[in-house]
Amino acid sequence: MGRNTVYGCLRGAETVRVYKEGIETVMRFFERLAWKIQRMMYGRYGTDTLNLVLVIAGFVCSLFGRGYLPMLVSLALISLVMFRMFSKNIAKRRRENEVLIGIFRPRADAKTHRHFRCPKCAQKVRVPRGKGKIMITCPKCGEKFAKKS
Ligand SMILES: [Zn+2]
Repeated sequence: MGRNTVYGCLRGAETVRVYKEGIETVMRFFERLAWKIQRMMYGRYGTDTLNLVLVIAGFVCSLFGRGYLPMLVSLALISLVMFRMFSKNIAKRRRENEVLIGIFRPRADAKTHRHFRCPKCAQKVRVPRGKGKIMITCPKCGEKFAKKS
């Protein structure tokens, strides 16, 4: 082994050490950052399906919209997402999210029953499916109305 080879080996080891330290420093930075974010979000709502939908809507608005209005809408949507993320009123935010999920999730009895609203008092009425055209009597106000079941 010549002098240069030994020197080269040392240089290599030194380089590996520097790289290792560099990676460790970066990892520590991200660990600290994650911890800081965690601490910042403590007791706050965070994110959910509704926020995801709002972010996508805002993104689509800013991407495909022309002029000021879509940009303003997009800005408003993102602000709303921020507000919801950092909100401490967790119960209220959770309810908002459940409303959204309720709209898109079919009812458990959707295959066996149909749901109508009484034309007079708006009471929800549930009838079994597949009975043809039937007269429904509202259980609340007694109004009769015909629907296809
Ligand atoms: Zn009624």
